[in-house]
Formats: sequence, C-alpha cells, structure tokens
Amino acid sequence: MSAQPDGISPASGPEPARTITDLRFTDRLVRELPGDRSDDSRIRQVFKACYSRVAPTAVPEPELVVLVPEVAELLDLDPTPTPELAEVLGGNRVVPGMAPYAACYGGHQFGTWAGQLGDGRAITLAEVENRAHETWEIQLKGAGPTPYSRRADGRAVLRSSLRELVCSEAMHHLGVPTTRALSLVLTGQPVQRDLLYDGNARLEPGAVVCRVAPTFLRFGNYEIHAARDDHDTLRKLVRFTLERYYPQYLDGERMDIAGFLEEVVRRTAFMISEWMRVGFVHGVMNTDNMSILGLTIDYGPYGWLEPFDLDWTPNITDASGRRYRFGNQPQVGHWNLAQLARALAPLAPDHLDDIRRTLDIYPGELGSLYRHTMLRKIGLCGRGDTLAADDELLSSLGALLVEVETDMTLFFRQLAQVPLRASPDEAFAILREAYYEPDAITAIQRAMLDDWRRAYAARVPVEALDDRERRACMDAINPLYVPRNYLVQEVIEATEQGDRTAVLELLDVLRRPYSEQPGRAKYAAKRPEWARHKPGCSMLSCSS
Ligand code: AMP
Ligand code: MG
Repeated sequence: MSAQPDGISPASGPEPARTITDLRFTDRLVRELPGDRSDDSRIRQVFKACYSRVAPTAVPEPELVVLVPEVAELLDLDPTPTPELAEVLGGNRVVPGMAPYAACYGGHQFGTWAGQLGDGRAITLAEVENRAHETWEIQLKGAGPTPYSRRADGRAVLRSSLRELVCSEAMHHLGVPTTRALSLVLTGQPVQRDLLYDGNARLEPGAVVCRVAPTFLRFGNYEIHAARDDHDTLRKLVRFTLERYYPQYLDGERMDIAGFLEEVVRRTAFMISEWMRVGFVHGVMNTDNMSILGLTIDYGPYGWLEPFDLDWTPNITDASGRRYRFGNQPQVGHWNLAQLARALAPLAPDHLDDIRRTLDIYPGELGSLYRHTMLRKIGLCGRGDTLAADDELLSSLGALLVEVETDMTLFFRQLAQVPLRASPDEAFAILREAYYEPDAITAIQRAMLDDWRRAYAARVPVEALDDRERRACMDAINPLYVPRNYLVQEVIEATEQGDRTAVLELLDVLRRPYSEQPGRAKYAAKRPEWARHKPGCSMLSCSS
C-alpha cells in the first residue's frame, strides 16, 4: 500500500530550514544610511555617519555552547549545531552577503552627556529576511575591536554573555518586550577583567553572544547627530526608522515626529511597567541602552528582585546614587525620553509644543499601566471597577513587603493559593514560603499581615471570581520561575567548569515561567543565605 496519496509529491511540504550560508541577507541599513568614509579600524571620532564597516576579529577555538532553536526558527535557520555555525557565530567567518558594521551612537550615562560611545564590541553581521518577510538584525557581542572601542578590548567574558543570553530569552517567554539571543560561543581566548573594580583582575573565559532583534537602534543613535548639530544625518536616520518600523508616521516627505515620539513613549512605558511586574532591574538605563522599539536591550549588571525592595539595585557601580534602582525605573524612563525628544526636536521646529505635550503623556500612561498591572498581580483582573480604595490596598501591600522581608516572585504565587475564607493560621502557613525569615516575624507584624489580607479578601468579591478563577488569573501574570541572580551564577560556575547541560536546563525551565514544572522546584526556590552578599548574585558591576 502506498503511503503517499496520488498527486501529492513529498516536495510540497514546508520548505526545509536553511544553513547559515543560505540565509537571505539584506543590508538595508548599510545601503541606505550614510556610513563612515574611512575604513580605518582605529579608535576615533566618527562624524556624519551612522555606522562604520568592520569585521569581527577571529578567535582561536570557537565552541558553540548554546544554540536557541526558537530563535533559529525566526531566521529560518536550521538549528543543528555545526562547525560552520560555530565559526560564523564566533566571528571567524563572514558569509558572502553579510555586510558587518558597528553602529555610531552617543548617550547620557548616569545623567551626564558622554559624547560618542558606539558599538565598541558589538558587530552587526547582517540583516536576515525570513520567509514571512520579517527582517532580523543578527549581532555578535564580544566580537573584537571597532572604531568605538575607546579604551577597551572589544571582548566579553562568559559570565556576562551567558547572563545576557539567559535573561533575554527568559524575558521573551515572560512576555516582556526584549531583544533575543541565538547563540553563545566560547572563544578559547581568555579575557582579563576586574570583576569588582578593586584591583583584583583575573583571566576569564571569553565568549561571544549572538543577539537578534528587528533593530538595535537606541536613543543614543539619534542623540549623537543632534549633539553635533548634524541635522542632515539625523533626518536620514529618522526617515529610515519611520520607513522601516513606524511607517504610519510617514506621509510622503512629511515626518510626524510628535506621533513617532508618542509611540516610543507608550512602548517605553509599557516595557518599564512590565519590568515592574516581573521584578526586573535593568541596572544601567543610560540612553544608549534604550531601544527605539521599546525593547529591553543591553543586559549588563541587571538583577531580579528577590526580597521586594524599591531601593534595590544590583549595580555596585551605581551604589552611591542608586539612580537605576528598581523603584526609580519609571522616572528614569521619562528622563531618557526627554533626551530623545530633545534630539528629535530640531526636525520639527514648528511642533515643539506637540513634542512637549507628547512627553507629558508619559507619567499618566506609566502610572495607569503600573496600577493596573499591580492590581492584576493580586487578582483584581478588572472585571469589577477599580476603586479609589485600591490605591490604599496597593500602597499598604508595598509597605508590608518591605517591613517583612518577602520574596517578590513567591509572594504573588503563594497569595494566589490562599483561599479567601482562610483562617489567619491557614493563610500564614501558605504564605510562609515567601518570607525569608518566617520564624522571626513578630506578633505585631503578623497582625499587620493579617489586616491587609482581610482588607484584600473583602475587596476580591467585587471581581466576582471564585478562588479557582482568581488563582488562574494571578498565575497567568505572576511567574513562578525567573532567572534568579544566584541560579544564573550557579550555571555560570558550572559552565566555566565544563558542564554544558546546566545552561540548557535553565533555559528550558524558563520557557514556561508561569507553569509549575514537576521535579524543578529548585528553580523556584528563594535565594539561599549564602547568596545574600555574593558577587554575581547580589553585587554586579559594569565589568563584563
Ligand atoms: P554598556 O555599559 O555595556 O552599555 O557599554 C557602554 C559603552 O562601552 C558602549 O559603547 C560599549 O560598546 C562600550 N564597551 C563596553 N565594554 C566594552 C569592551 N569590552 N570593549 C569595547 N567597548 C566596550
Ligand atoms: Mg550599552
């Protein structure tokens, strides 16, 4: 009997995935925007240009440690690891059709204009057009020096590369707008770094991560031309951005700058409210790390809130001012958008009031997104009207989470399991999992916790949810698994010691962050005491 019905040939199935050399490369940015006229790869100021052409520098022994299949699929790339892929993704081989470059950008760092920065170690290999006609930029980070490397070596270490790969994929599966990561390649070339900037430099394994996004354009790409009064290059870059990513704000020759800015404002507000939902602290929200598409970009000394604390930052480089602490991220987003607005303003001299009004949208937009998100986190999904008293419920919860050291992630998962009619003891037995020192909680604190819970239990019925429905609502937006700082640090140490499976298992857990996964309880465990002050777990620096 024939397995193949007549008239259907086996070739009519889905097209096979492509090898790296068969991908469809486009190089629109390089073709359409002004580039550096010099091909001098030495470090220098680059004027009237959006990028410099530069190829990655080869490494001795590229080893492909991770290839993320779902990101390969975005590119139509066959996810089978091959030596050829390791060569390309490690920066040893540029495939015909690729037009590698480093972007020129500037930025405000910690509130101060820093001048030209640029891709000092990131090199975009190519833009790939997939069968669905989406275009994805593929970029190697740690691929060697460029004209923008300033005083640094153009390289990256395993620990920071693994952190970027794991966190960007985790964010994607959490539903937070982010750049993606295709691969992690160990280079076989040690890199010298001083982890805590305390004079203890050591050699660490070098690595290259391949990042993927529709574009890596940042606020700083626009700021640099505005700062140099180069309105011609600025206009070309903005036109390019609108044509490709915001065509609704382009009408023939006319560019609707305020409309474009409004969309960036809304996307940025959404991204930051999502960070607050999942407990993510970016750590270095400089304007060169703010994506024009509202994606989380440039994972450096980021961290995940374990004990809930609005003042926490993982970045020891920012320890004194704490500019980029968890609770300040919404305000910093506004400040950064103001820098973008200032950079775009010269293109719309007759619409300065519109630009100002657009910027003023941000606090209300962020505030309402944040309030709504926090209400949804406690199961007030919006079936009922939100009430004035809800603000009091949220603010007293915030105070309690600080008063009694509480794991942010576990608290919302445990709260979902507390029946509304639970007795104080029953409720405490369920919530104790989320407290760092449950036995040290005083009688007064217990009474405060229970007062809050009773106010909450009295509010929920407005939503007309039973316990089961409320839990489903809450579990759908409160993750159980996030890339906790200490978990990622453990995986880094295992990988440094030659283990190649630990990172794959962590990535796999993080694919389904909202679903309880049997046998994987250790990935949901709150931070152990040993990790409280350990470098890499609670203290990170920009050394990467
Ligand atoms: P970041 O703090 O990672 O956002 O980086 C700020 C600037 O420093 C960017 O222009 C980076 O390209 C540059 N940079 C960071 N590390 C290195 C490095 N190892 N080599 C060259 N440039 C770097
Ligand atoms: Mg950066």
